[in-house]
Amino acid sequence: MKVSVVGASGRVGRAAAFCLAEENLVNKLVLISREKSLNQIKGEALDMADALAAKDIKVSIISSCNLEDIKDSDIVVISAGIPRTADMNRVDVAVPNARIIAHYSNLIATNAPESIILVITNPVDIMTYVAYKASGFPRNRVVGLGNHLDSLRLKNLVAKHFNVHVREVHTRIIGEHGDHMVPLLSSSSIGGILMKYYDEYKTFDLESIIEKVKGAGTYVIGKKGATEYGPAFAISNIIKSILRDEKKIPTLTTFLDGEIEGVKDVCLGVPVKLGKNGVEQIISLKMSNEEIKKFLEAAKFVKNATDEVMASIDVNK
Ligand code: NAP
Repeated sequence: MKVSVVGASGRVGRAAAFCLAEENLVNKLVLISREKSLNQIKGEALDMADALAAKDIKVSIISSCNLEDIKDSDIVVISAGIPRTADMNRVDVAVPNARIIAHYSNLIATNAPESIILVITNPVDIMTYVAYKASGFPRNRVVGLGNHLDSLRLKNLVAKHFNVHVREVHTRIIGEHGDHMVPLLSSSSIGGILMKYYDEYKTFDLESIIEKVKGAGTYVIGKKGATEYGPAFAISNIIKSILRDEKKIPTLTTFLDGEIEGVKDVCLGVPVKLGKNGVEQIISLKMSNEEIKKFLEAAKFVKNATDEVMASIDVNK
């Protein structure tokens, strides 16, 4: 199994690469950066190799600036992008990042035409659309991470409020990885029982919890400069599910063609069945009227922003 990370000199890229290597699942890992960071990723590769030797894990790690080295990758992660500072929202960085994503997606299509692209760069819903259009890949092979991480954050907060093990909580956030995220509370459960049947539900303040989830990335960026472990483990989860053909149902950004509430021609976070072919199925949803309303608002917001970005870039470059 071979996985490449484009943007491996960045905090998310290198943490995700290491996290994945530690899973002992891939035998080749390619770290890609620009020329100016080649020395850094060479150092990262050696440091990782030392740590892996301590755990008896054998992975061949290559550091490179040449996208030809991603040849035959099963999965290519793109986390290259201009960083978001605490005073910027995810959309502020959309046009410059869209150019980076289009550039790399074209190179991925040339050098690893059978791979699955996993987009991390923000704003991830728009970037997934750009990668889908620029690569020309079928939509099942272009997927973005966003709401999976939001859902993990929500899961943590729910587990804390209900005082249960995080494993017992089944909840998710769909829509935009941003202000227009939609918590799917109507179908959330704890230990297989709908959340609304618990006594603690009476004091569950969804609005303040969702504000915490929305602000989680910004909070961490404000404190330590970037989010790292959360995205890295979420990325590694997704890659594991694909490589092991697990058929798990995470919430990932995918291109919609009317499957959910008729929403079309936009990439949004929805529950998907994930396996060796990438997104193998978009899971249809039963939502409350309020959830439908919020989902449609998210779709409208992301579609408008995506159209603006697409009008400002050339996806073939
Ligand atoms: P970072 O530490 O600043 O790393 C940025 C990476 O992008 C570096 O590898 C850098 O390479 C590369 N890069 C910057 N400008 C570039 C350009 N013009 N052309 C090519 N490569 C360029 O940022 P990070 O914290 O790793 O975050 C990376 C991205 O992931 C950001 O967009 C962030 O918002 C996003 N993110 C998404 C999620 C999610 O859930 N979807 C979670 C966390 C972060 P050089 O070393 O060559 O400069």
